[in-house]
Amino acid sequence: MMCSLWRGTLLTLTSSLNRRVFQCCRQLGRSYNIASCMPEAVAFQGVSDHSGLYKFSVNESDRFWGAVARQRLSWISPFHTVQNCDFSQGKIKWFEGGKLNVSVNCLDRHVQTCPERVALIWERDEPGTEVKITYRQLLELTCRLGNLLKRQGVRRGDCVTIYMPPCPLAMASMLACARIGAAHNVVFAGFSSEALADRIRDAQSSTVITVNQGVRGGKVVDLKRTVDQAVQNCPTVQQVLVAMRTENTVPMTDRDVPLEEEMMKEDVVCEPVAMDSEDVLFLLYTSGSTGKPKGLVHTQAGYLLYTSLTHRYVFNYHDGDVFGCVADIGWITGHSYIVYGPLCNGGTTVLFESTPVYPNPGRYWEMVERLGINQFYGAPTAIRLLLKYGDEWVQNYNRSSLKTLGSVGEPINTEAWEWYHRVVGDGRCPVVDTWWQTETGGICIAPRPADPEAEIVPGMAMHPFYGIKPALLDTEVVTGDGVVLQSAQFPAFLRLRLALCYNQYCPLNCATPLLGFFFTGDGAHRSKEGYYQIIGRLDDVINVSGHRLGTAELEDVVVCTIIIMFGLGVYVFVVLKKAVMVEEDVLAQQLREMVSRSIAKYACPDFIQVVRCLPKTRSGKIMRRVLRKVVERNTDELGDLSTLDDPDSVHEVIRGHRRLR
Ligand code: ATP
Ligand code: MG
Repeated sequence: MMCSLWRGTLLTLTSSLNRRVFQCCRQLGRSYNIASCMPEAVAFQGVSDHSGLYKFSVNESDRFWGAVARQRLSWISPFHTVQNCDFSQGKIKWFEGGKLNVSVNCLDRHVQTCPERVALIWERDEPGTEVKITYRQLLELTCRLGNLLKRQGVRRGDCVTIYMPPCPLAMASMLACARIGAAHNVVFAGFSSEALADRIRDAQSSTVITVNQGVRGGKVVDLKRTVDQAVQNCPTVQQVLVAMRTENTVPMTDRDVPLEEEMMKEDVVCEPVAMDSEDVLFLLYTSGSTGKPKGLVHTQAGYLLYTSLTHRYVFNYHDGDVFGCVADIGWITGHSYIVYGPLCNGGTTVLFESTPVYPNPGRYWEMVERLGINQFYGAPTAIRLLLKYGDEWVQNYNRSSLKTLGSVGEPINTEAWEWYHRVVGDGRCPVVDTWWQTETGGICIAPRPADPEAEIVPGMAMHPFYGIKPALLDTEVVTGDGVVLQSAQFPAFLRLRLALCYNQYCPLNCATPLLGFFFTGDGAHRSKEGYYQIIGRLDDVINVSGHRLGTAELEDVVVCTIIIMFGLGVYVFVVLKKAVMVEEDVLAQQLREMVSRSIAKYACPDFIQVVRCLPKTRSGKIMRRVLRKVVERNTDELGDLSTLDDPDSVHEVIRGHRRLR
């Protein structure tokens, strides 16, 4: 069966192979020592380069993960079994027998070697007001908070909900939970009181940690008020710890505890709890792009190991670098690549409180210059937005510190990729398009800038990470499109709760579900070189005149500001670049010619609608399912909108669609 699966998906992608290919480093042809890139590799006999290392990691999975886990993590007691997984039964266990504490791995061991190294730079909303916190200070904050949580009755196994903007106390709260053995449930601090209440109830939290107010894009947001509304419908909540982000006082009740005041009464030493590898580290929800958000669980050792390893190798992070991931800590990207990965590696991580356009569209790059950021990790939605404002906003600032540029969250179209590479990175920084999900905990497919021989094709996610075995599976025999499926045997894969819902994928040409595979919901091509290109969500792939089309492919052609949805045919939503004035008829004609030339006549859009903006999740992803419902005239069935960012965007799309009809 495996053979036929693989045979069915050996795809050729001639168009992408004709594209320009970028070298990750300009060292091609020079010999290099794999052990200088990955010290663990010394133990892997016969491995001399990154490709060999990848093969070893999948063929000798136990030896690979066992060695890196022993090398990279500090264990209180060693594990006896590397992995014990049977995905068809929903069983995923890593490093059984091992005990460790995640906060010790992220803090104490670095305090022993470099206490004054900056652990985090809090890039506050107003440019130039950043705050630097050393490893010693972050450990102190964490311990005081851990002691306060214990005093307030939080015990090992409890789940604490954190509703805070990116700030040091939010990070310390996550680490304090890890220190005392509680799980955390971080909720993005832009969610409504109903969405927050849902998540508090699901986690059965008795403790919520929040701030009086948030500050973002020059605006003050009353976060405590949202918590007050939410907890009215959460009978489990007994206390709300309130930190002060602004100087404004907010109404406090008997349930509320002033965080800073109370934690200052606590000791700076807090004994870390020895946690089992498979104890829960946190609960987190997906973005809600395709439906109701799913609450997922990640555990201690495997998750920490995987985020540390991917942070080091996908971004080519080295000691002393400043790592700037501009996601919010409320998403998995923030958990893995602001908090756990960088801190486990003793890195300096940036915590970004603002927006890409505050106070102007040069914000990111001004910050890169001021903080000396070496790796910048952002989302295509922001790149596309900034591209519209023109190159000057980037070129005004010195970006010579940059070494790697990362992208995550959605497919990055070629125009945005090229701009990121050419303008932001001055054509010298590898762009790593990283494909992964909340479910996978860490990056699964990405280029390998740490490999001096690796190349990058614009718009392609390129290689599976060490230990990852992607499988592409045809949904229909006629085409070469694939579903990314992978065996879930890598340490950061989601645990418990939903694992069983994901292992039942039944392709159209098979009678029974393929047990043991994880259905990601995304489609991908694989070139004959073995490079992967994500083509978008499978829900968004349609069959036009017998040809299967993915959104990413079409959007790539019709230029970055345009998004496409499908009813029975192709429906294009257009967001014009700033200051562009064009007659809709002329635009429609031009778009049809472009698509016809670059893909084929059958792919030409049937309808074109110009809109001011598109409905997006609060993490910036386009909610295509909402657009699809509008096009299908099912506006009564828009589905779960709890993660929708701007409700007006939907109303405008509906009004425009009615006019078109
Ligand atoms: P939900 O699962 O609730 O519908 P979501 O899938 O958007 O929401 P996340 O886990 O935050 O929730 O996002 C993972 C998804 O984001 C992937 O499945 C994929 O569709 C998309 N994605 C992430 N990175 C990339 C990338 N580099 N290229 C293309 N798509 C990506
Ligand atoms: Mg998803």
